[in-house]
Amino acid sequence: MTYSLLYRGFLSSCNYSCGYCPFAKRIESRARLHRDRQSVERFANWIAEQTSDQWKILFTPWGEALTRSWYRTALTRLSHLPQVQRVSAQTNLSCGVRWINDCNLERLSLWTTFHPSEVSAVAFAAKVIELRGQGVQLSVGMVAIPGALSDVDAMRDRLPPDVNMWLNAQQPRRRPFTEDEVARFSRIDPYFPLTLRPERSLGRPCPTGEVSFTVDGDGDMRRCHFVDSVIGNIYTPNWRASLMPRVCPNASCKCFLGTSQLLSTNSASALSNRLALLEH
Ligand code: SF4
Ligand code: SF4
Repeated sequence: MTYSLLYRGFLSSCNYSCGYCPFAKRIESRARLHRDRQSVERFANWIAEQTSDQWKILFTPWGEALTRSWYRTALTRLSHLPQVQRVSAQTNLSCGVRWINDCNLERLSLWTTFHPSEVSAVAFAAKVIELRGQGVQLSVGMVAIPGALSDVDAMRDRLPPDVNMWLNAQQPRRRPFTEDEVARFSRIDPYFPLTLRPERSLGRPCPTGEVSFTVDGDGDMRRCHFVDSVIGNIYTPNWRASLMPRVCPNASCKCFLGTSQLLSTNSASALSNRLALLEH
């Protein structure tokens, strides 16, 4: 079986201070960071033992993980395991990049996000171009804010054409996007309109909890980041027993990571395509 797994541990801090984020410049105690480190190492050890399945792993931290050595070590190690098809991480790309030389670049990918209040477009794009030159697979994302077209254009213009750029509509936002803004953002990311409103999902079949699930720092499994019920724990012998076909219990699915898991609508299929783009 091939499983897609989202890992989000105890980390909840970041070195950046984006105005639209609750994790901006949050400091964590040494004890909590130590707990996060142990949990990430335990998780990587567990994946190393799961040789009868194939894995696609995405680290989706609350905050920035790649400034922490234990995440870099875990990504490096996981990228070399034969049972890991892909290992990815969301990142603001503020970390050093030498560690990437030790990764298997055929399996590593980075979901980078450009935050214009924290780093210049010139510096960010230069880092992306350097990494692409080394053969690193990555995408670049931004939060699309009404009235902030120039920041998006500045980044798109500086990126190589083969680097995918994705735009997520700011939530909540101080005013609606104009038609012109939607059209211009959509020229950069054709799937941008799908981020403007949540996808209705109640009662619809969704493969989360069957072939895709999240894991937290304790190993607890959930269907996705938007359904809080724990369905199992990877550190128990019968973790597979908690995976089965299910329908969505939520009125709507509020993020493309979740919506891409939905079955049976054209827009969900479009989002799946977007997710596939981001993975490469
Ligand atoms: S880089 Fe990401 S996690 Fe850090 S403050 Fe900005 S939005 Fe939040
Ligand atoms: S449809 Fe969305 S919210 Fe519902 S279970 Fe699937 S991923 Fe989660």
